[in-house]
Amino acid sequence: NKTDIGLIGLAVMGENLALNMENKGWHVSVYNRTVPGVEEGVVERFVNGRAKGKNIEGYTDIKAFVESIAIPRKIMMMVRAGKPVDELMEQLFPLLSPGDILIDGGNSNYEDTNRRVKLAESKGFLFIGSGVSGGEEGALNGASIMPGGSEKAWLEVKPILQSIAAKAPDGTPCCEWVGPAGAGHFVKMIHNGIEYGDMQLIAEAYWVMKNLLDLNNEEMADVFENWNEGKLRSYLIEITSNILRHKDKAGGYLIDKILDTAGQKGTGKWSVINAMELGMPLGLIATAVFERSLSAQKDLRHLASRQFLHSHVMSVCNKVEFVKEIFSALYASKLVSYAQGFAVLQRASDTFDWQLNLASIARMWRGGCIIRSIFLNDIAAAFEAANKPEHLLLAPYFQQEIKTLIPGWKKLVAEAMKEELPVPAFSSALNYFYSLISVELPANLVQAQRDYFGAHTFERKDELRGQFFHENWTGHGGDTKSGTYNV
Ligand code: NDP
Repeated sequence: NKTDIGLIGLAVMGENLALNMENKGWHVSVYNRTVPGVEEGVVERFVNGRAKGKNIEGYTDIKAFVESIAIPRKIMMMVRAGKPVDELMEQLFPLLSPGDILIDGGNSNYEDTNRRVKLAESKGFLFIGSGVSGGEEGALNGASIMPGGSEKAWLEVKPILQSIAAKAPDGTPCCEWVGPAGAGHFVKMIHNGIEYGDMQLIAEAYWVMKNLLDLNNEEMADVFENWNEGKLRSYLIEITSNILRHKDKAGGYLIDKILDTAGQKGTGKWSVINAMELGMPLGLIATAVFERSLSAQKDLRHLASRQFLHSHVMSVCNKVEFVKEIFSALYASKLVSYAQGFAVLQRASDTFDWQLNLASIARMWRGGCIIRSIFLNDIAAAFEAANKPEHLLLAPYFQQEIKTLIPGWKKLVAEAMKEELPVPAFSSALNYFYSLISVELPANLVQAQRDYFGAHTFERKDELRGQFFHENWTGHGGDTKSGTYNV
């Protein structure tokens, strides 16, 4: 009696996904390597522990594991991203039958997935690279799952993956086919980048309330709780309120005792690198990544703070009004961040011919994952409209939203700057927005400088687009132009 699916890698994600699958009625084989010096007995511990009495079979021999699974085999890998995935594939290839399906559910780089799909297909197998978001809790109770790669495999794995996915409030599973090659992992990467942005924006809202409004933790928790009843309703706003109220064993607010240096594991950075590769602005997420880096330079900040003394002396008369301004800045900046993120997805889709369905991606993120929010419904609706907007901020609904938010947003950024309080993501978003709505930008001067020192040429307003000119600026330069390629 063969099993329905095999799962490799029994760390936190793998264990919980296996239990989730079993809970949905699937018969599951599990395998974890046994390497001398690396923790042994992982499989036994799981099978005799959390998986005891369940329809889960444990294997320490990879051949026996593969043979236990019904053909076409479905094997999900939940191992550390990078080399381990390649090593595992090499071990699996000789054991598989044509048409078997490998699913990499780790946080792999999408370019690795591009390569692995080709490699597996060249050997007669199918390969799915799937983002899985939601951490331990999502893996056990429902994650947001973003599969891409060999499309032929989708119908085979769909019932299993959709059964273990989170369900959006309307009951739709948060798992749909994303696209070919590394599209699933690319979408997961941008999801994580947006998560960095959301977290930074919420942190700035907190910081302004604390420093300019002098609100205490309970008062700030109330504000977030209140926002969680409206348009900002989301998992991250909800947990922020809980975090602010949380007291440690000693009885004090834990938030005030946590060191202000943030870590990062790289997916935010990857989002920004890839946006740059695609020539797309993703300034808000970049700011969030850089702010984590700057936060980690605690000693330097300490030193600098002694050289440039500053204080926030503002006394706000109307706190209720000011909280509304913070709301405007947070909501508008969030709109900018999602608009930038989805624009990168669109550009990737066009560049790699992935045919991404942005509405479907927005819907997939409504449950299970860290950035789940009601606001994603509005995004899905905008991309589904008969006239698909050129840019999210140009969708009629968001145009209206932004218009009502601008006064509070710009007032808040200006006030924070005047008070020397950093709001880098709020202001990055505002600057992006002002640039976006400017017909004219000073890039004419940049082009002139490039041509002056490097003969990089420029287009002219008084000539047809696509013609490139070089000026002999100094009278003694030559007429030779540099190539006009753009990266
Ligand atoms: P880890 O990323 O810590 O990976 C540990 C697992 O990888 C173990 O089963 C380990 O086996 C296995 N492994 C490591 N090296 C090799 C190798 N060379 N060959 C075979 N197996 C190897 O575990 P997580 O459960 O946290 O994550 C699994 C994947 O899911 C990762 O890609 C991660 O980025 C991704 N992910 C994690 C989330 C989370 O919240 N933790 C959320 C979403 C995705 P051994 O026990 O023998 O060392």
